Amino acid sequence: AAKDSGRNGCALYTDELEGKATENLWLQNELRHAIERNQLSLVFQPIYNQAGELVCCEALCRWYHPERGPISPARFIPAAEDCGLVVSIGHWVLLEVCRTIKSMAARGTPMPAVAVNISARHFNQSDFVERLIALLKAHDVSPSQIELELTEYALLSNLSVISERMQRLRALGFSIAIDDFGTGYSSLSYLQSLPLSRLKLDAAFVAKIGTEAGDAIVRAIVEMAHSLTLQVVAEGVESRSQHQHLQWLGCEFYQGYLLGKPMSATLLVSPDTDNPVDMPA
Ligand code: C2E
Ligand code: MG
Ligand code: MG
Ligand code: MG
Repeated sequence: AAKDSGRNGCALYTDELEGKATENLWLQNELRHAIERNQLSLVFQPIYNQAGELVCCEALCRWYHPERGPISPARFIPAAEDCGLVVSIGHWVLLEVCRTIKSMAARGTPMPAVAVNISARHFNQSDFVERLIALLKAHDVSPSQIELELTEYALLSNLSVISERMQRLRALGFSIAIDDFGTGYSSLSYLQSLPLSRLKLDAAFVAKIGTEAGDAIVRAIVEMAHSLTLQVVAEGVESRSQHQHLQWLGCEFYQGYLLGKPMSATLLVSPDTDNPVDMPA
C-alpha cells in the first residue's frame, strides 16, 4: 500500500489517489443498493436556543454496510454527489424525515423542527420544490417544520434561479440555512441578496474559540450575520467555555456533543433529554 512505497513522495501520492478512486467506485456500487436493502437510517441531533429549549434538530444520514459496518456520511455523501446518487439519497432522506415527523406526532410526542441537509445537486433539480411540496402534503407535514440546509456550493450556479427558488420556498413557509458557513468559496455578496433564515457557523471556527484570532473571527461572523438579520447556529459546540462564549456573543442556537449527540427520534423527544445541561446564567 501507500506506506510501502518508501521515500518516493510522488509514488505515495499516486497510490493514495488510486486508493481513493478505488474506494469511491466501491462506495458508489454499494450505495446503488443501499436504499432498497434498508441499509440507510436517520439520526437526529438536538439544537437548543439560548434558554436551553429544544427548538430544532438536524437529520443526519447513517449507512450501515453488512460487511464494512458503519460508513460515515463525510465519506459516502461526497462519493454519492460525484455520481449523482445523492439525489436518490436526498429523496429517501426527505421521505424518512416526513414519515418520522408524522409517526412521532401520531404518538403524541411531536418532533421539533427538522433541519435537512440538501446537496447542491439535489437542490438544483428543476422539480425540487414540486416534489418537496407533494411529499409534505402526502404526510401532513407543514413547511414550517422543515429547515433546508444548503452549503455554499449550492449557490455557485445561476444565482437568480437559486434566489427565485428560495423566495418560493420561504413564501411556502420553509426556513433556509447556510451550512458550514465560512468554509466555502462563494462571495459574501450572496448573503444580502438571498432570503436566508440563518447561518450555521462551521465547527472549525467554534473549535478555535479561546484563541485571539478564533475569537475575532467568530465575533465578526456573528456580527455580520446579525447586521443582515440572520440568526446564527453554532455547530460542534463541545465545551462549556465555547457555549458560554457563543451565548455572550449573542449566537441564537447551539448544536454539539456538549448538548447532545445524534440519536433516534424517540430518544430526542423523550422528557429526560429535554434539558441536558444547566445553562449558565
Ligand atoms: P453537517 O451537516 O455539517 O453536520 C454536522 C456534523 O457534525 C455531523 O456529522 C455531526 O454528527 C457532527 N457533529 C455534531 N456535533 C459535533 C461536535 O460537537 N463535535 C464534532 N466533532 N462533530 C459534531 P456527520 O453526521 O458525520 O455528517 C457529516 C456531514 O455529512 C454533514 O455535515 C453533512 O454535510 C453530510 N450529511 C449527513 N447527512 C446527510 C444527508 O442526509 N444529506 C446530505 N446531503 N448530507 C448529509
Ligand atoms: Mg448540516
Ligand atoms: Mg454543518
Ligand atoms: Mg459542518
